[in-house]
Amino acid sequence: MESLHFAAARGAASLFDLTGRLALVTGSSRGIGRALAQGLASAGASVVLHGRGGAALESSATALAESGGTVFTTSFDVTDAAAVRSGVEALLSDHGTPDILVNNAGVQRRAPFTEFAAADWDEVIATNLSSAFYVSRALAPAMAERGSGKIINIGSVQSVLARQTIAPYSASKGGLVMLTKGMAADLARHNIQVNMLSPGYFATDMNEALWGDPVFNDWVINRTPARRWGRVEELVGTLIYLASDASAFVSGQNILVDGGMTSVV
Ligand code: NDP
Repeated sequence: MESLHFAAARGAASLFDLTGRLALVTGSSRGIGRALAQGLASAGASVVLHGRGGAALESSATALAESGGTVFTTSFDVTDAAAVRSGVEALLSDHGTPDILVNNAGVQRRAPFTEFAAADWDEVIATNLSSAFYVSRALAPAMAERGSGKIINIGSVQSVLARQTIAPYSASKGGLVMLTKGMAADLARHNIQVNMLSPGYFATDMNEALWGDPVFNDWVINRTPARRWGRVEELVGTLIYLASDASAFVSGQNILVDGGMTSVV
């Protein structure tokens, strides 16, 4: 019954406390990644913002630091295994071993299936799926050596349901479900929990073509039991759960934060 004493002694809220933890969120220069980094900072974590460099990364870091967070930045291309290795090595030596890794960087390309360019297929698979493998493979040994870690892969409704014109994206996000389970299988023994957070439809740069289209906008609202798009801050509670001691015995799971979309036809 140690767990009951443990919870009572610490207080339930402290299970979600990330004070003193260090988090790397890939693709956090903007959009969902930026909101996730902000959410982790609000729970007490120091965060490493990441992108391919440029003004968005710097302005996001400045904004987060001004709101009171401890923020660092790093830049590397998540599709380049060698760049990931050297980026992660520099991060480890500058800031120590992250407690939390959020594999969030992603890209979307749309075309009818028979017209999909091979280069676009490669880019989507590399950015959304191979990246999580490269970054996690580079970081997990340091987490294992410390004896703890949290890895959260960012999926999508397309992790479980397909849609016209985005077959490569669906393949990448579906692949992440099994990568998450495979990593959980290898890493749980090192007290590293690997899980997945899959957002529904959230209005960001990536899907401007969707929320800018009144027909698609109506479709999302009618298709979602909550009758609206998600707000990026609504991903934070689930993320903190998966990033904290509250999920210490949870691994290989995919939690959909989608206003009920994938529960209905
Ligand atoms: P955005 O396009 O707004 O942001 C993408 C982020 O990924 C940017 O920070 C970008 O950095 C980074 N990135 C892209 N390619 C690379 C690369 N090769 N190397 C390093 N960084 C890269 O996307 P969203 O915020 O909308 O999406 C974030 C994640 O959430 C994705 O995995 C997406 O699939 C997922 N998602 C989004 C949904 C939505 O409704 N928006 C719904 C479900 C899932 P840079 O500054 O370098 O461009």
